[in-house]
Amino acid sequence: MTTTQILIVEDEEALATLLEYNLAKENFEVSVASDGEEALLRIQESAPDLIILDWMLPSVSGIEICRRLRSKPETQNLPIIMLTARSEEADRIRGLDTGADDYLTKPFSTNELIARVRAVLRRIRPGLVEDKVIVGDIEVDRVSHRVIRGDKEIHLGPTEFRLLDHFIQHPGRVFSREQLLNAVWGTDVFVEVRTVDVHIGRLRKALNKYKQGDPIRTVRSAGYALETG
Ligand code: CA
Repeated sequence: MTTTQILIVEDEEALATLLEYNLAKENFEVSVASDGEEALLRIQESAPDLIILDWMLPSVSGIEICRRLRSKPETQNLPIIMLTARSEEADRIRGLDTGADDYLTKPFSTNELIARVRAVLRRIRPGLVEDKVIVGDIEVDRVSHRVIRGDKEIHLGPTEFRLLDHFIQHPGRVFSREQLLNAVWGTDVFVEVRTVDVHIGRLRKALNKYKQGDPIRTVRSAGYALETG
C-alpha cells in the first residue's frame, strides 16, 4: 500500500517538529510548511493526503488556506484537521464553517492527533486505509490485485493497476500528467509525460471492456480524474 502523505502547516517550530516526529513514527510520510504561502505552494506541487493546518499563521491564515482549498475542484475534498490555540477560538472557527473536517484545540496529545488523523482518513479517504475499496461500480482488492466492475472481472497490467489504485485513493480529484507520473512511476525515473496518456488509454479501455461507460474524466489542460458516481 502506498504511503499516506501528511502536510503539517505550523509556524511554531517546536510543535511542528514534535508532530512530524510522532506521525513519521506511525509510518506517515510527513512534510512541514511554516507559513501559508509555502503551504499553498507545496499543496499545488504535490497534493498531500491530509493537512494538519494551524489557524494562526504568518502571511496567509489557516482559515484562508482552508477556504482556498475548498474552492478548487482538485482540493475540495482534501482532508483538513485545523489546529487552534484556545477553546473560544475553536468555537469561533466552528461557527465560521471553514470546511475543515476536524478541529483540535492546543494543547493536545500526539495520541489524540493520531487518532483524529486516522478517523478523518477512514471517513473521507477509505481508499487510503482499506484493503478493499469500492468507487462507483468499480471494486478494487488491493491485496489480491483483483478488479471487478459490475459482475465482471477486469484484467489490468501492473502500471494500469497502480494508476487505478492511485485514483481510488482520491476519487473525483483531478490529477495532472506530472502528478500521475510522480505518484505512479516515481520521481527518480525519466518517463515522458505522453506515457501517462498511453496508460490512461489502456486503463480506460480495460475498464470499459464490457461497455459499462468510461469512468475516467479528461479535464482539458488539467489532467484526469476518476468519476465517483
Ligand atoms: Ca501558529
